[in-house]
Amino acid sequence: MIDDPLSILMLEDDAADQQLLERELRKHIRQLALTWVTGPQDYERALRTFPFDLILADYNVPGYHGLAALELARRIAPRTPFIVVTGSLDEETAADIVKAGAADYVLKERIARLGPAIGSARERQRMENEKETAVLALRESEERYALAVGGAHDGLFDWDLRRNRIHFSPRWKQMLGHAAADIGSAPDEWLGRIHSDEVGEFRQRLDAHLKGGEAHFEMEYRIRHQDGSYRWMLSRGLAVRDEQGEAYRMAGSLTDVTRRKEAEERLLHDALHDSLTGLANRTLFGDRLHQAVARGRRRDEYSFAVLYVDLDQFKVVNDSLGHLAGDEVLVALARRLEACLRPGDTVARLGGDEFAVLVEDVDDGRQALRIAARIHEELGPPLKIRGHEVFATASVGIARGAARYEHAHDLLRDADIAMYRAKRRGRGNSEIFDASIDAVATLRLRMETELRRALVRQELRLHFQPVVSLETRRIAGMEALVRWQHPERGMLLPDEFIPLAEEIGAIVPLGQWVLRSACAEARRWEEQASGGPPVAVSVNLSARQFSQSDVPALVCEVLDESGLPAPSLRLELTESALMDDPVGAAAKLGPLKQLGVNLDIDDFGTGYSSLSYLRRFPIDALKIDRAFVSRMDAEPEDREIVRTIVTLAANLGVSAVAEGVETPAQAAQLRSFLCPYAQGFLFSRPVAAGEAAGLLRSRILHG
Ligand code: C2E
Ligand code: MG
Ligand code: MG
Repeated sequence: MIDDPLSILMLEDDAADQQLLERELRKHIRQLALTWVTGPQDYERALRTFPFDLILADYNVPGYHGLAALELARRIAPRTPFIVVTGSLDEETAADIVKAGAADYVLKERIARLGPAIGSARERQRMENEKETAVLALRESEERYALAVGGAHDGLFDWDLRRNRIHFSPRWKQMLGHAAADIGSAPDEWLGRIHSDEVGEFRQRLDAHLKGGEAHFEMEYRIRHQDGSYRWMLSRGLAVRDEQGEAYRMAGSLTDVTRRKEAEERLLHDALHDSLTGLANRTLFGDRLHQAVARGRRRDEYSFAVLYVDLDQFKVVNDSLGHLAGDEVLVALARRLEACLRPGDTVARLGGDEFAVLVEDVDDGRQALRIAARIHEELGPPLKIRGHEVFATASVGIARGAARYEHAHDLLRDADIAMYRAKRRGRGNSEIFDASIDAVATLRLRMETELRRALVRQELRLHFQPVVSLETRRIAGMEALVRWQHPERGMLLPDEFIPLAEEIGAIVPLGQWVLRSACAEARRWEEQASGGPPVAVSVNLSARQFSQSDVPALVCEVLDESGLPAPSLRLELTESALMDDPVGAAAKLGPLKQLGVNLDIDDFGTGYSSLSYLRRFPIDALKIDRAFVSRMDAEPEDREIVRTIVTLAANLGVSAVAEGVETPAQAAQLRSFLCPYAQGFLFSRPVAAGEAAGLLRSRILHG
């Protein structure tokens, strides 16, 4: 008699036979749960729905061969004993049945054999289960051993998925700062300590592996140490699966990767941040901006703006206080910039004295300008750097995110253009990029192309304006002034294209052309002159041309080429070209002076010359700016300035030239100050080369 409850599936098409079998079963089984099916469909559904302890099947169900029933049972419930019940059976079929995996067969006429057959089938199954468990246990301990050998330094875990218990090795617990007894075997001992940022992903990946989607489990995550801190750990694991591919166990390791992670993070941080200020660098900023642009294109309501912040005249700080102090200023200003922003905003140092800010939720231009105003305000108070008070201001250009932007760099470029406009308005200004600037930018772009072409197509011309001796009215020299014979816009004056040429670097080839042409022209004058003192030619050098190209080498080459004696060439530099970088300027002026050319300071009085530098520069003349000369008649103050400059020149032992003399009264006044030279419409406007040669033939100008 079998005492355990036993659930049996019976496939039998004949009701009488079913009753016969059931009666027989009840004789042997005290607690019987019988599921009777009569055809293949119900049979399969039952198999798939319930687990059974035993299957009894008639071998001769019409339209359903017994072997098919057996095979289906093998597939769906491979461990369930299967006994064939049949009316008649030849030897061959009996052998087939057993070979196919049936536990036994019973003839209906010998139904008394059913009880013992069930008993022995169950016994065989029990033994098989025992064997399997033993094998499993062996395999388990072998695996655990292999893992232990593999990772002596690592912690190990072994997860019994069926019982949902985890065996953690002592090392595993120790790595989290715990004694072996502190941590039990519940999965939460592990998952409950994982950082909340990563626990979700951890579960997901675990699931993916257990369900068979991922070949193995591997993840780096933070886990709470006993001391409360988080450690970076790498976990690897591999599931062990049964014949159906169902994972019933997972074992693996835990490796502390905190130091590697920290090093990686440091490297990553360094690669994306400016080492001096710790702010984001250009790369990181570009990346954030790129994301913002992408978000802006996806979502209409998302608004943002870029502020391009460029410190004003930072060079002066570097030059006067030294680079170390300059660095301190940059760091201090970086902190102030950070202070005016909200948590989500990004401040970056793009390089040198240029910063950029990315702000979100900026709905209109006024709001962006308010942020710029906050920046100006924050930068306002003087900084105390090495005992000096430093006043910093910045020019800010703003570009607002808009759907038309496809690339981050376009936005940055527009903010830069706006910044440039702000800078032209003087220190501490802001400008916002808008469609109208867009038009300016487009025009500028066209000018750029045209200007480069002008050099190739020889559209540049030189005009000359005489410099006369106020005492003798003789022409002492000629100033070369460049013009652009634009194919559509006519004759353009230098103010309309020199600043652009400087900005785009075209000033260097343009300046070379001017110098070559002027020297060649002056050489012709010399050849035509019939004795008398030589006439010098003056050539203007722009600040950028002077600082960015090797002017001494160029001058040397051009003098050689043209055969013009060096003293016949005068180079004009503005005050600011010299004073922006006095040390660099001095280094270039020396070699130029040694070539024997004359060096004049143009537009004197408008810059901020330091007298001490003035003494040190090897200059030959001061050209008094037109602004003072033109107001001389009306403003006593300007008259005094002119007189002072003339006196200063005399004291420095250099010559003086008054620019922009238009009236006889101005000329008379200048004579009374003993100003030696003058230039202006009173004597002659700038004229084309041919006319200049004509003026030189008479040499004397009236005015
Ligand atoms: P600048 O060197 O101070 O040249 C004198 C400017 O004053 C010229 O203007 C000249 O036409 C103008 N001027 C002369 N006399 C009078 C006068 O009596 N009344 C008035 N109202 N103006 C007078 P321009 O030719 O337009 O040149 C402007 C500036 O462009 C020059 O100022 C110079 O700084 C720059 N420039 C001219 N040619 C070159 C060049 O080849 N290279 C560079 N880098 N700059 C140049
Ligand atoms: Mg000049
Ligand atoms: Mg001038």
